Amino acid sequence: MNILFGVPLFYYRYNPQLLYKYIKYNEKSTEKKIRYFYGNIACACQGGRNVNFPINWKVIEKEIKDINDNGIGVYITMSKCVLTKEDILDENSNRMMSLINVDNGLNGFIVSNDELSKHMHEKYPFVKQKMSQIRVATENPTYRPIEYYKKLLESYEEVCVDTADVFNLDYIKQLDCSRLEVVCNHSCPPNCPFRPEHQNFIIEQQNKYLKNNIYKIEPFECFYKNRPKENMILTTKNYKDLLNIGFNKFKISGRHDPNVDKKIELIL
Ligand SMILES: [Zn+2]
Repeated sequence: MNILFGVPLFYYRYNPQLLYKYIKYNEKSTEKKIRYFYGNIACACQGGRNVNFPINWKVIEKEIKDINDNGIGVYITMSKCVLTKEDILDENSNRMMSLINVDNGLNGFIVSNDELSKHMHEKYPFVKQKMSQIRVATENPTYRPIEYYKKLLESYEEVCVDTADVFNLDYIKQLDCSRLEVVCNHSCPPNCPFRPEHQNFIIEQQNKYLKNNIYKIEPFECFYKNRPKENMILTTKNYKDLLNIGFNKFKISGRHDPNVDKKIELIL
């Protein structure tokens, strides 16, 4: 079974050439493969981490084509949890969504909001939908009953589970592991209780940018002061254990980081 990764280099303006370096990576690698590149423009439905790159539709279209032509997916982070009707109909968000609505079985939306998901199903039916880790972490930051995930799997093709949950194999194997994904280098400690506040901070910053075009965005860092010592970076043993139960989808976080290539290189 291949180990499949989601990698944050779609529309990564800190270093656009990195995308092409890693598109080539898939030709050589046999065990670890890139399943999709993810990212987004600054727009009303964007979530997770902040984006403050100016929009260039020509570059965006070219990147989508080049990624898909190499058999790799493009996943768009439309993962803001709280959205108004206006946000859902936002022009730039929808233009972005329509660009990956191609019948190739590769592309996906990373989504947190059920109303937006409904809109996507109606308008962009070729794109798979993955429940974002952001929603999981803000709804249930410290503990997630198994029924919670089962319910999400009824409505979403894939669910990104909380990183803390994959360390408990007996717990996670109660679910259909072929439809699960996990962030393999999470920046918060296990069950960080401040994740709803993190999300509010990020949304505030993104709104500031969208309203005033302030280019500088404060970088996000977990503000859990007395954080437990253990981290949430998966080890070789974790990957092995998860592959044994049919869990092979992972996501590398860090699209807000100008030096994300160091993280990617370490993991791939
Ligand atoms: Zn945190």
